[in-house]
Amino acid sequence: MQTQPTASHFINGAYVEDTNGTPIDVIYPATGEKIAMVYAATPAIIEQALTAARDAQAAWGAMTGTERGRILRRAADIMRERNHDLSILETYDTGKPYQETSVADATSGADALEYFGGMAATLTGEHIQLGEDWVYTRREPLGVCVGIGAWNYPTQIACWKGAPALACGNSIIFKPSETTPLSALKVAEILVQAGLPAGLYNVVQGMGEVGAALVTDPRVDKVSLTGSVPTGRKVYAAAADGMKHVTMELGGKSPIIVFEDADIENAVSGAIVGNFYSSGQVCSNGTRVFVHTDIKEAFLKRLAERLDNAVIGDPMDPDTSFGPMVSKRQLDIVLGYIDKGKAEGARLVYGGNAIDGKGFYMQPTVFADVTDDMTIAREEIFGPVLSVLDFTDEDDVMARANDTEFGLAAGVFTRDLSRAHRVAANFQAGTCYINTYNDAPVEAPFGGMKNSGVGRENSKAAIEHYSQLKSVYVRMGDMEAPF
Ligand code: NDP
Repeated sequence: MQTQPTASHFINGAYVEDTNGTPIDVIYPATGEKIAMVYAATPAIIEQALTAARDAQAAWGAMTGTERGRILRRAADIMRERNHDLSILETYDTGKPYQETSVADATSGADALEYFGGMAATLTGEHIQLGEDWVYTRREPLGVCVGIGAWNYPTQIACWKGAPALACGNSIIFKPSETTPLSALKVAEILVQAGLPAGLYNVVQGMGEVGAALVTDPRVDKVSLTGSVPTGRKVYAAAADGMKHVTMELGGKSPIIVFEDADIENAVSGAIVGNFYSSGQVCSNGTRVFVHTDIKEAFLKRLAERLDNAVIGDPMDPDTSFGPMVSKRQLDIVLGYIDKGKAEGARLVYGGNAIDGKGFYMQPTVFADVTDDMTIAREEIFGPVLSVLDFTDEDDVMARANDTEFGLAAGVFTRDLSRAHRVAANFQAGTCYINTYNDAPVEAPFGGMKNSGVGRENSKAAIEHYSQLKSVYVRMGDMEAPF
């Protein structure tokens, strides 16, 4: 497959290059080999993107929702038709196994395009009667949106931000993570192929400073970031200066509570999906697994048996279920946390090592006897490291589960219906799971509480974050004045 893109950026409906930008090598995580190269956006490229997005937006916003939605739905169809090639590219970009990318990346992006495409025609204001006078509201676009992505779900993030932005009549400039610059260019290509007018979906490459230049530009009305909490703080602060709308999808350290009456097989499945999918590089992962002491050893035993079934290897092989880390840097960060876990007294019960050979591979890793104050129980690791913590009492485990700066997700496994809903109600987290984990359908709101974020992606809730209401007062009779 051709992994080198036609050019680095996609602006005003076409590929654009500026070789004066800093070169960025694209590395295939499974081999460590360079598979492509792009240039970071120069100020001239950023200017082109902003001009194109500004110029194109008004006409797009003035179209009917049906017309806008038709284009998004056509793009969804093209994405599904091209799912195989897009999945291979995503695997090159991220190292995630084809087994995952073929069902969770372009398909998830297509879902967002289809969902928000379908919703575009339904976006309306309302009529409010005030005696014989009345008010009506107009739902209007924000203008130019900037999307900034993380490297774990490049196609999905490019669509989760692009689809609602476009459905609401905005234009968007998307900056992928410098680690995974390839997939978003394909999203832009597909949208144009589906009939999206030039300038509405632009992609510019670059490091954090390119994102920062976009966020601070006065022509930008909204910023949506998927990234870490420290980056979120910076981007939110920069956006606040210009009073811009924001959506912040940030990190997590989410709990999964496994009660003594849980179906152990399901709870182990939840722990596996919530810790080892995408080699653990998922924001909503349930990395603190609180297991009732009555079933702890049975849980650990079954978890280890199931982990033995992980197929670690060539991500392009459809049988592979566990791929490499996205980069050498991320691998080293995760190994550093494993050292800390050992040094602070956690019991390593599975994995724990890098795997020799080509690429950035490591073993799925499980620690037991983890306590709340340990670094591995407090900080987001963003790798395949599961911590098992003991508990016996519901009130106690609830308080411990919520004792974190993060609030992205949380899960509970129990057969007790009342307890399940009570626990879900008490979780301080934006997305909660009962007897399941890490589902993210486009129909449901997704986002964090506390430091894990601001706003919601997906679902009808996203519309509120990509549009604004204007109230229009209408007086039917004469207007009174005091003098
Ligand atoms: P980072 O926070 O390092 O980067 C996120 C994006 O922000 C990148 O494109 C980065 O550019 C850019 N960026 C960095 N600094 C600035 C700045 N000052 N102004 C504007 N943009 C900037 O996150 P990672 O890419 O390492 O992704 C991992 C993180 O993302 C984890 O914390 C994870 O939990 C979170 N995440 C959250 C999700 C959610 O939905 N809540 C989903 C997926 C991931 P570059 O890296 O190219 O320099």
